[in-house]
Amino acid sequence: MRGVVTLGAGIAGLSFSYHFNHATDIYEKKQTWGGRCRSHTVEGFTFDEGIHISFTRDDHVRRLFAESVAGRYGEFAPLVLNYFQSHWVRHPVESNLKGLPAELVVQCLLDFIRAEQAGGQPAGEGGQNYHDWLVARFGRALTRHFYGAYTRKYWTVEPELLTTDWIGRRIYRPGLDEVLRGALSGRFRNVYYIKSFRYPDQGGYQSFLRSLATEAEVYHGFEVVEVDLSHKRLVFKNGFERYYDRLVSSIPLPELARCIKDCPREVREAAARLAHTSVVLVNLGIGRGDLAGDCHWFYIYDERLLPARVHFTSSLSAANAPPGCTGIQAEIYHSPYKPLKLSISGILEKTIESLVETGILQQHDRIILADCMNIKYANVLFNRDYQKNRGLVLEYLRGKDVHCIGRYGEWAYLWSDQSLLSGKRAAETLAKVTG
Ligand SMILES: Cc1cc2nc3c(=O)[nH]c(=O)nc-3n(C[C@H](O)[C@H](O)[C@H](O)COP(=O)(O)OP(=O)(O)OC[C@H]3O[C@@H](n4cnc5c(N)ncnc54)[C@H](O)[C@@H]3O)c2cc1C
Repeated sequence: MRGVVTLGAGIAGLSFSYHFNHATDIYEKKQTWGGRCRSHTVEGFTFDEGIHISFTRDDHVRRLFAESVAGRYGEFAPLVLNYFQSHWVRHPVESNLKGLPAELVVQCLLDFIRAEQAGGQPAGEGGQNYHDWLVARFGRALTRHFYGAYTRKYWTVEPELLTTDWIGRRIYRPGLDEVLRGALSGRFRNVYYIKSFRYPDQGGYQSFLRSLATEAEVYHGFEVVEVDLSHKRLVFKNGFERYYDRLVSSIPLPELARCIKDCPREVREAAARLAHTSVVLVNLGIGRGDLAGDCHWFYIYDERLLPARVHFTSSLSAANAPPGCTGIQAEIYHSPYKPLKLSISGILEKTIESLVETGILQQHDRIILADCMNIKYANVLFNRDYQKNRGLVLEYLRGKDVHCIGRYGEWAYLWSDQSLLSGKRAAETLAKVTG
């Protein structure tokens, strides 16, 4: 048996299958489909793998997601806050400075004006790093206290180490009038790049993938460990072997490269240099309702406090927590650049302490559930050699007729809708060549 074989049953692999009329066998190492879009229910609390919401503008994806849950989803305007040294302000911080200490607001305003006067562009375009980009656009104070600190927490590196090719529309730059208005009046206008989002009523984010998965032929518990590109043969950890005509892969690019038999040295080395962050998710079930107030998620800039981002799972869907309870998930990022210094139980303890300090939790709160998940692949790191290394590996695989799809297969900063569309594109390409 040969045919088209797919590696990985995340949204990209499932989407490939769906758009290829399910004429493919999918091999998935885990016991469930969904990949990074999986949802986990424990003791009545449902958690996703990091906050997952759908803010896609693509009609096809919107229709597929809606169909998957028979139209039962919530539609929300995002309520996003920032926590900084005991102060809470709306997001993004540069448009909502009112409420921060006066001296800090003055510093942020003066530096923003200086940046504005200098033209808002980093000197010497091309090869610029994220730090210079931030300083040029927002000024030194906002960079130092907010964006720089958050980069260390979320990206796990100094902003100087990142390029800027991932930014796109992710970071909004307000005009001076807007910054002044936000500092003086405190009147809120949503300038965030997410204007509204959807989330399933039941079953967590994974439910949005149901239409893709229903008819997919997924073989669970099949972890590929060897890929022989010359003989088009796959070997799995459980000893199973499979020949193929065409291979579609959504597994992380460095993992795929490691599996390739007789992989050229330069490809193997380039793949080994592809950097990424990992994340420990702290899942908490609290025996008190309504902890979220007017907030879906918030960012913590204080580097002393462990989490980078925290969301209230039960603010996305009431079904994510038992009645009268709140689900909270905190994200703690790490990488070889910023290794974890605490044990898992230490992380749990420190996260709870951090949430008490922010005032979200109270000392006497009943914690019904507390556990941690370590997710190895979170974000691709856009360091200076990212394009070169990624390009080299993908080029080699393309030459061997391997179609790489999805966030980790393409090794890019793709949201779930983009990962879905990546699988769809591969299906369209293969449909043409396989007739
Ligand atoms: C913290 C976080 C928050 C996010 N928030 C959002 C959000 O709010 N909205 C949004 O749209 N997107 C969000 N995303 C992005 C979204 O999760 C991804 O775009 C999407 O899930 C990627 O899907 P994929 O199929 O490309 O990869 P994956 O989901 O990783 O699928 C790959 C599959 O391959 C399997 N696999 C791996 N190795 C092997 C092997 N050797 N053999 C066989 N199988 C293997 C894995 O188990 C997995 O099931 C977020 C991502 C993260 C990390």
